[in-house]
Amino acid sequence: PEVILEAKDLVKHYPIKTGIMRRTTGHVKAVDGVSFELHKGETLGIVGESGCGKSTLGRLIMRLEEPTAGEVVFEGLEMQKASTGDMRKLRRDIQIVFQDPYTSLNPRMTVGDIIGEPFEIHSEVVPKGGRRQRVQELLDLVGLNPEHINRYPHQFSGGQRQRIGIARGIALNPKVLVCDEPVSALDVSVQAQVVNLMEKLQDELGLAYIFIAHDLSVVRHISDRVGVMYLGKMAELGTEDEVYEHPTHPYTQALLSAVPVPDPTLRGKREQIVLVGDVPSPANPPKGCRFHTRCWKAQEKCKVEEPQLIDRPDGQGAHRSACHFAELRTIVETVDVTQVE
Ligand code: SF4
Ligand code: MG
Repeated sequence: PEVILEAKDLVKHYPIKTGIMRRTTGHVKAVDGVSFELHKGETLGIVGESGCGKSTLGRLIMRLEEPTAGEVVFEGLEMQKASTGDMRKLRRDIQIVFQDPYTSLNPRMTVGDIIGEPFEIHSEVVPKGGRRQRVQELLDLVGLNPEHINRYPHQFSGGQRQRIGIARGIALNPKVLVCDEPVSALDVSVQAQVVNLMEKLQDELGLAYIFIAHDLSVVRHISDRVGVMYLGKMAELGTEDEVYEHPTHPYTQALLSAVPVPDPTLRGKREQIVLVGDVPSPANPPKGCRFHTRCWKAQEKCKVEEPQLIDRPDGQGAHRSACHFAELRTIVETVDVTQVE
């Protein structure tokens, strides 16, 4: 499949400033060398606990933040070197949907103005006289009543507001939509409706999604491929089946073992991997493999040598794992947590 967007060794470090002189005394390594490719029309899910850098990654792809190092390549164009004209195109072709439909919409703007706002900046997309009609088409496309164009955000439910956010996100016919926890603020029943809408829009419009979320089941449902992040790095990357059914990285295995089992007869029967210890500070990630302080498989090598995200045992070409001792594991086995340092 055709690659539409590529992240190459992306790094984002934030300076830590202390004292009245605001001297830089260290750096928060929010994203610390992340590479992946996004194919045309696919959904790449990015999962990980809060603070793993997944939202920063989304902001780097959107160019809401400049990377400290590394680059984002969109349709062969290196974003960090793009001309003003190219940047305009990039800003049109890559759009974002934010987590919180309650705060991301301006309460004083009508829905029509909110969805139509991108046309003010990118007036070439829809001529001025056709904007109202285009906004109504967009409302219809996301399952809202086109006649509600003059209503305000507070007159809509949470799920409807996220539909408004999505309508705004697709207004300029983008090719990539970065979705940062798009359903996390919604009730479970509403989550499914919004995810189904997103899948429908993807099929109709050929959009590629980068779907950032902490909820593993939602990510599995929508994603074609999944990347698992830990402390600013990608721990594992593969197809949805590979990552969920045959995880190779101990961190992925632990995350998955903690997902509630829907079948009550199986409840309590599946063995769980309980991670001990806190996530270390991203200002001071452990040397070697940064998961080694919490990993039950850790050995001496893990403390000194950083594992690269490369193809691991199954060798199908695209299932990558950043673990020296990656092993396919279909059934999550019991782990004696007392053995973890
Ligand atoms: Fe665990 Fe070592 Fe693999 Fe890191 S490299 S995940 S510490 S086994
Ligand atoms: Mg899909």
